[in-house]
Amino acid sequence: MNDSADTRSIAVTSPVDGSSLGEVAVADAAEVDAAVTRAAAAFETWGETPAKERVQPLYRFKQLVEDNIAELSALVTAENGKTLGESEAGIRKGLEVVENACALPFIETGGLQEVSPGVDCHLRRVPLGVAAGITPFNFPAMVPLWMFPLAIATGNTFILKPSEQVPLTPLRLGELLAEAGLPPNVFQVLQGDRETAEALLDHHGIAAAAFVGSTAAARAVHSRGVAAGKRMLALGGAKNHLVVVPDADVEITAKNVVSSATGCAGQRCMAASVLVTVGDCSEVMAALEAEMRQVVAGENMGAIISAAALERIEGYIDRAEAAGARIAVDGRSATVAGKEGGFYTNPTLIDGLDIGNECACDEIFGPVLTVLHVDTLEEALAIENASAYGNAASIYTTNGATARHFERHAGAGMVGINIGVPVPREPFSFGGWNESHFGTGDITGEDGIAFWTRARKVTQKWTPGVARTWMS
Ligand code: NAD
Repeated sequence: MNDSADTRSIAVTSPVDGSSLGEVAVADAAEVDAAVTRAAAAFETWGETPAKERVQPLYRFKQLVEDNIAELSALVTAENGKTLGESEAGIRKGLEVVENACALPFIETGGLQEVSPGVDCHLRRVPLGVAAGITPFNFPAMVPLWMFPLAIATGNTFILKPSEQVPLTPLRLGELLAEAGLPPNVFQVLQGDRETAEALLDHHGIAAAAFVGSTAAARAVHSRGVAAGKRMLALGGAKNHLVVVPDADVEITAKNVVSSATGCAGQRCMAASVLVTVGDCSEVMAALEAEMRQVVAGENMGAIISAAALERIEGYIDRAEAAGARIAVDGRSATVAGKEGGFYTNPTLIDGLDIGNECACDEIFGPVLTVLHVDTLEEALAIENASAYGNAASIYTTNGATARHFERHAGAGMVGINIGVPVPREPFSFGGWNESHFGTGDITGEDGIAFWTRARKVTQKWTPGVARTWMS
């Protein structure tokens, strides 16, 4: 799928054991231009194909992904390092967007009304043209699947630039799309890093681009794409707060918080990162510490994406300790027998820091949970609201009024009640607020359909005999 003529290439390393998975050639501006030319030519036919026909390859693609899910999951695990179960779950979550895309011909995306005697108005959603997606390392299949099924089903052609750290799964998805009968160049993968992404963003032949990644990159990508006249949506990083009050169920809370903080080794934009306890939550804290010790890298938790990421994560723990924090559970310097070349850290629980400490404010993106203690729910909400990010926030309580108050006042786009990873299932759309999000709307669901299309409004009259009104 990548016909790059550029000689620069990027090595792909497995975080599981440090082994080489090969290398991919980086697409330069000339290759981006050639891909856009191919995509624009494919759009001439694809954009005119009725939606009912456009979704047929997507039905077959979904079946092919399911038929090959073991192989795909193994590929995600090899290049990303998450556990096999997590890899499969991410792919299945992505397939929900394919289901939503397949339903497109049955979803009312327009509408018609007789607005005046003999005068009809209708609205039709039409594709934009060539679209692009730039994706992060942490969900090699799922995040691309947030983008291309809806973009393609709505009639656009699509160029994906996956993370240079996980380039292999998207290539395999492209092969399965071709096998499913998607016409050539409706979907293309271009490998590369920032340089390739910037060439896509600058290209005037691309009408819209979606991005998912860190906040610094999301901000830069959003403004660069807008400056080049594109419709842009860029989802950024996160710092998710979980709040626990004394009436919370101890066992459910402890298990759920730990699973949120350590799933995918904390490398999820929805991961629990700060736990705020309100009042006396000592029972929950004791259960949580015990639960966290049950999570072990290489057994029931996966790897960290790279040596550099591992060093960055453990650097936060070192500095917290130097600042006087209690490292209640210390995951540093983990090794996994037989996988000594891999990148591992065990879960870490940090207690006793000030609310302004970097561990309570920065996105660490590893299995590190920082605990803060306050006396009232309002104080907890103030901490959550003060965060620059706004992806997810959750509360653990058995009191409906407390839950309702939290839901109304949390400063996050996705709120959980007794659930630590409040990812909306399709067709509810996915997207955060504040610095977790640049642009308008969410990335999937109804907003996704709106993002990849524009509305054509048609007003028509075929009955010259009917009475005239002020607008006919
Ligand atoms: P990243 O920002 O380093 O890279 C993401 C993608 O952007 C990659 O394809 C990369 O090549 C490209 N890129 C990097 N810098 C760029 C720049 N300046 N201009 C153009 N392209 C650039 O992110 P990552 O480390 O791969 O992924 C982890 C981050 O993604 C975390 O911050 C995580 O919270 C975030 N994330 C957010 C969501 C969400 O829905 N909000 C979902 C998944 C991941």
